[in-house]
Amino acid sequence: MRFSLLLFLAGSLLAQGQYDLLLKGGHVIDPKNGISAKRDVAIQDGKIAAVAESIDASRAYKVVNVSDYYVTPGLIDIHVHVYAGTGMRGAYSGDNSIYPDGHTFRVGVTTVVDAGSSGWRNFEDFKDRVIDRSKTRVLALLNIVGRGMGGGDIEQNVQDMDAQATAAMAKKHPQVVVGVKTAHFSGPEWVAVDRAVEAGNAANVPVMVDFGRFRQERPFEELVTKRLRPGDIYTHAFLGAVPLLDEKLQVRPFMHEARKRGVIFDVGHGGGSLLFRQAVPAVKQGFLPDSISTDIHITSMNAGMKDMLNVMSKFINMGMSVDDVILRSTWNPAKQIKRQELGHLTVGAVADVAVLNVLDGKYGFTDIAGTRMRGDRKFECELTIKDGKVHYDLNGITRRDWDGLGIYDSQGDPRWDATIGGGGGGRRRGGQRPR
Ligand SMILES: [Zn+2]
Repeated sequence: MRFSLLLFLAGSLLAQGQYDLLLKGGHVIDPKNGISAKRDVAIQDGKIAAVAESIDASRAYKVVNVSDYYVTPGLIDIHVHVYAGTGMRGAYSGDNSIYPDGHTFRVGVTTVVDAGSSGWRNFEDFKDRVIDRSKTRVLALLNIVGRGMGGGDIEQNVQDMDAQATAAMAKKHPQVVVGVKTAHFSGPEWVAVDRAVEAGNAANVPVMVDFGRFRQERPFEELVTKRLRPGDIYTHAFLGAVPLLDEKLQVRPFMHEARKRGVIFDVGHGGGSLLFRQAVPAVKQGFLPDSISTDIHITSMNAGMKDMLNVMSKFINMGMSVDDVILRSTWNPAKQIKRQELGHLTVGAVADVAVLNVLDGKYGFTDIAGTRMRGDRKFECELTIKDGKVHYDLNGITRRDWDGLGIYDSQGDPRWDATIGGGGGGRRRGGQRPR
């Protein structure tokens, strides 16, 4: 009796297609859960519903064969500049920033962290202008300078480095603000770093440091072995000015010491912060970055740095494994910003997923000095899913073949559009959907 009731229930579920989407046969890399193997991944109502060696295709409304690809958590880029639209010339809190959605989903990125483009005075403008309007999950580090990255004197104004006001704004928006940033400071004092740490303590959030001008009065070694707290992040790890290597190109002992203390080393490639001359020897010696990030803005993205996958590709060509690179672009950055609900494919977690290809061929990669590193592999993004919805599909692998449908209209597929993300052809005439 009970058994037949179960059968009946199972039967009705099967008929409906329990899962919205099933990614079948991919190589899942989910470092948090220690998975790097062939797995099926089912998504339902925006969440990861099941991960198993085999999930029955009949249980899903939509099945996508991803057997040629890696399936990873949506990528998390913890250093970007996306405070666009203010009209400020030559400033990261303005024209130097990009709008996130045009640059994220196409490279598998579902979450970005704006690294201090705004400070406590203009964060709410940033939130209204960009964060609340983006499909990308945009989080923020508040600049210790109240006016953020306005350029020139604005960022050197010690009077505007208010730890308490910064902490108060961070506490007001705990869903969005994940830490404090100091950047571009050129003075001889420690004030920028110290105020940022003070704000970090007051709001209980990590601090990310761009050390600005490197000066003898405030040695880098002291920054990472004394001033920063465990969990604080030094971005721009492979910048030329970082005294990372000794004369014999060996990673200096204090770098290992700093790492042992819990200081985090992030890539933050940007327009000026990744030299192969620094990164290649370090990676060869096993000094891997804790997290991989782009520092994308209008200039860096057209120079040595192209996008998140380009930076990740550099590291596989330096000898890091695909698994090591995925760890450092998903689960590690999620932990660093204390967003442990992101960056993994645990059942029940938000369904942010990247389906990535690793292409074989002859490629070249450039650093910030304009030198080239040759390589034979690179990442490409096939599919990006955020909150269970398809936001980017390079080759239409989630789509139906047009010539298999007979006579079809422009209505698309109602359940698909409603539950998975739409974009499958036009919708109702007069609707809001852009054509
Ligand atoms: Zn930056």
